[in-house]
Amino acid sequence: SSNVADLAAEAARTRPDKLALIDTATGATVTWHEVELAVRATARRLREAGVRPGDRVGIRLPTSAAFAVAFFAVLRADGVAVPLNPQEPVTVSSALLQDCGAEVVLTDEPLPSTTTVEPIVAATSDDAADEGEPARGGEDLAALLYTSGTTGSPRGVMLSHRALLAGVEQVRSLALSPVEPSDRVFVAVPMYHVYGLGPGLLAATSAGATVVTAPRFEVRSALSDCLHHEVTVVLGVPAMYVAMTARPASELGESLSTVRLLISGAAPLRPKVLADIRAATGLSVFEGYGLTEAAPVVTSTLATGYAKPGSVGRPLPGVEVRLVGDDAGSGVPTDPEDPDDTFDDADGTGLVEIRGANLFSGYWPDGDHGPDADGWFRTDDVGYLDTDGDLHLVDRAGDLVIVNGFNVYPREVENVISELPQVREVAVVGVLDNRTGEAVKAVVVPEPGAALSEHQVIEHCAARLAGYKVPAVVSFADALPHSAIGKVRRVGLRDAGAVGED
Ligand code: ATP
Repeated sequence: SSNVADLAAEAARTRPDKLALIDTATGATVTWHEVELAVRATARRLREAGVRPGDRVGIRLPTSAAFAVAFFAVLRADGVAVPLNPQEPVTVSSALLQDCGAEVVLTDEPLPSTTTVEPIVAATSDDAADEGEPARGGEDLAALLYTSGTTGSPRGVMLSHRALLAGVEQVRSLALSPVEPSDRVFVAVPMYHVYGLGPGLLAATSAGATVVTAPRFEVRSALSDCLHHEVTVVLGVPAMYVAMTARPASELGESLSTVRLLISGAAPLRPKVLADIRAATGLSVFEGYGLTEAAPVVTSTLATGYAKPGSVGRPLPGVEVRLVGDDAGSGVPTDPEDPDDTFDDADGTGLVEIRGANLFSGYWPDGDHGPDADGWFRTDDVGYLDTDGDLHLVDRAGDLVIVNGFNVYPREVENVISELPQVREVAVVGVLDNRTGEAVKAVVVPEPGAALSEHQVIEHCAARLAGYKVPAVVSFADALPHSAIGKVRRVGLRDAGAVGED
């Protein structure tokens, strides 16, 4: 059965001289043939360093050509790739490596108590002497991805070769396909996160397209990279598009003149941002919803080709979605043709459950809490389906705030507060309150130089929301804590203190 490294070997067979990787940080440009040589040479180094089939191998590199080679090399050597965030302190990476028993790490910066291997990006045929085909594939573990832990401590998500390859196939068979062989895909989101890895590196490799990498997103250099490398597809997160809207429309229009698709995922994209980008560029931003456990995409507006504002679109081909309410088992079908499908938006919210060949095998080390016997996996996301059958996400169940017994989803309050032009960013959390159990607290990052008071925020909310949803406390901050992929870490704000303590 197939191994994820076969994607790179296949691209080398079918498109040897085509540009595979353009690394904007180092200036390296590598063809698919050269990638295959580099992968083989690096795989050989890994075997020489003692990697045996099934061994976990850390990869601690930024989004780069080296990361791409390293990832395929681990799988080619029959190892299990464990991508790590190189911006996190070494102690954090070391703890994860210890958790999964990885002894060898592909990195440019040695870590304590591990063997360091440097990936070879430019290899000659001599380095790449054939070592035979990989033996692992199918249900065998291919990658262990630690979720960034926006809701708690990191957990190792076990992804098989089957899951990763299914995820790639599903993305490529979307009605509006985000990767064609002729595409140049800009990946400035982390490749050590499933978003940059699956729909980014792996899908582009499977198409034999060209990946343009950047180690971090800085809006001006990103726009000039898009222009100079004739990028056609941008993989982004909402914060990137927010940053773009702050640039002059003429600069945006020119820089993105070769782009055919803008894609957003990982966190909610505000309809206002979608509208602003469209006004400046004429391009729609297509939103997708995914999670590490689903390797990763579940739904996308690319499934219909219509970037419906506020919606994350429909399930990918091969992925099933259902909503499960309090009365467990009463799933809401997603089939818009189904005559029995009689939900309505107001009371049709439920927890999103998913099924498909893209799902993970459970959490490291024992494979616990994976899909159930029927193949369904329950996410922590609450959503509803509109009458077209498009999914809307309400919030995460774990972030629900209960005030006097009433449910408050923070995202609804955040959306109302972010209507204020003085607000750059906002996060809403629940904090302990002696009287009401929990109270709503908003942490607001004002636009630079903007004057905004707690009273103004509360008044704005009181005019638009039920009383129990109005923040009891508003505090102001210079910035919010973000995860590697750009999500707000609400958990840290929640811990920051009860009402009246900050
Ligand atoms: P942890 O699960 O440990 O908190 P994490 O949230 O960073 O870490 P990921 O797999 O990166 O783990 O996140 C998946 C979650 O991101 C989804 O369950 C969903 O809550 C959120 N998400 C992804 N895409 C979107 C989107 N388009 N809109 C809103 N939320 C999204």
